[in-house]
Amino acid sequence: MIAACREHDPELWFSTDYAEQQQARDICVSCPMVQACAQKALERPDTVGVWASVPLSGYGSKRRSQVQRLYHIAKGGRPEIPPVTRMRLNATAARHLRDQGMRVSEIAERLQISLSTATRYLGMNTSTEGLSA
Ligand code: SF4
Repeated sequence: MIAACREHDPELWFSTDYAEQQQARDICVSCPMVQACAQKALERPDTVGVWASVPLSGYGSKRRSQVQRLYHIAKGGRPEIPPVTRMRLNATAARHLRDQGMRVSEIAERLQISLSTATRYLGMNTSTEGLSA
């Protein structure tokens, strides 16, 4: 198995730019090495950057939460889909459903999102919007 990050600029995993961190997390989600990567991060308690789709930064309760996510992944759990990725997927799905003739209220119900969120997704450019903090 080959780590998905091998084909990308390693700086992406250590960037302080939110959009670049999200790109790194997106790539990690489908990486076949994600479990071993989480284990490796747990062996390096002071490490920073994105490991196994978990952005490691901060201290105290924030750091503990990140470490818990790493434990979950190291034990075979799947990494959570980053919020920006989930938003992009929902926006794409909303547009697809609209193209099939669904009304906004039906799309909101189908995707289990609010009416205002569905409306926002339908006006969203899924390729670029939502990538900045
Ligand atoms: S899970 Fe780890 S090995 Fe895989 S792409 Fe992410 S940082 Fe690289």
